[in-house]
Amino acid sequence: MIDLLANLQPIVLIVMLILMYCIENVLPYLNPPANKKRHYSRNFVISLISFLINALLGTLVVMVVELTAENHWGLLNHLQLPLPVQLLAGILLFDLGSYLTHNLQHKVPFFWRFHRIHHSDNHLNVSSSLRFHPVDVIVSQFIYQCIGVILIGMPITAFVIYGSIAIPLLILQHSNVRFPRGFERFASLVFATPGWHKIHHSSEQKETDSHYGDVFTFWDRIFGTWGHKQPHEIEYGLKEFNREEHHRVAHLLVSPFKSRKTTDPE
Ligand SMILES: [Zn+2]
Repeated sequence: MIDLLANLQPIVLIVMLILMYCIENVLPYLNPPANKKRHYSRNFVISLISFLINALLGTLVVMVVELTAENHWGLLNHLQLPLPVQLLAGILLFDLGSYLTHNLQHKVPFFWRFHRIHHSDNHLNVSSSLRFHPVDVIVSQFIYQCIGVILIGMPITAFVIYGSIAIPLLILQHSNVRFPRGFERFASLVFATPGWHKIHHSSEQKETDSHYGDVFTFWDRIFGTWGHKQPHEIEYGLKEFNREEHHRVAHLLVSPFKSRKTTDPE
């Protein structure tokens, strides 16, 4: 069952991308960008790179999960917990680690240089879901996941369940689709819903540096990194990516390696 769930994840990702693309083109929530095709195609190139790196590194992370179980590494392998409690603790702790890593991606200037490529998109839609710089993917998807899995003693089942929640949620969070207000209000008590996550893409730094949770909203609530806003009240993107040329694929890939004074394209 767990093997099946793990094997289905890439298929679920692709089906969700296609499904939400269709919905947001029939019933868009906010106005699409002036040049929608160019926006989609640029993000598609970045997404394809990040998808391939993710797939490659994902195989290595799975090896680390298996090694952790075989060698009884990490916290949960040293606690005698009933299986359901162990799985729930694994999922919650892994999401807490992801929340803390996301904080570092914003607060450490070196990490932010790469992570801001995801935040630079000033029109959120399904194509923004995987708009991550390759180095950002390595930091959040690989380095953190390996360290988190080993420290937590992440059970394989918990790792697969977490991915099966996080992947579809990632697509929903970025799609340009309106979800019912009642759903947002109640679901966001537990989950980082699309409306909740979109505040994280605000161009206002106070809001950019909030709503860090990937799957659950508990951590933002506990650490006070959240607020109230609706997606239509938000201006997306980053002020330093305010020109059309800033969103070219080459610029997005190269700009983190340039000094701040020379981040404008030639
Ligand atoms: Zn972020």
